Amino acid sequence: MERKQFELGDIVQMKKQHPCGSNEMEIIRMGMDIRIKCVGCKHSVLIPRVKFEKNMKKVLRSASSAEGDDFQQQ
Ligand SMILES: [Zn+2]
Repeated sequence: MERKQFELGDIVQMKKQHPCGSNEMEIIRMGMDIRIKCVGCKHSVLIPRVKFEKNMKKVLRSASSAEGDDFQQQ
């Protein structure tokens, strides 16, 4: 089974939508717990890493990867 890869600054898509209607989150702190910030309403939450990995669907934009050029970048 493939392990999910993510790092600080990544924009990730969550399985569950935030109440504000957005399901995109930015990783703003990494550690035992992960702090993510909702892209829609800027609300941030701290969640345990295990829970985060379970709830994350995929990485939409990687902070460090330079090969994401087929994404729109504005
Ligand atoms: Zn939100």
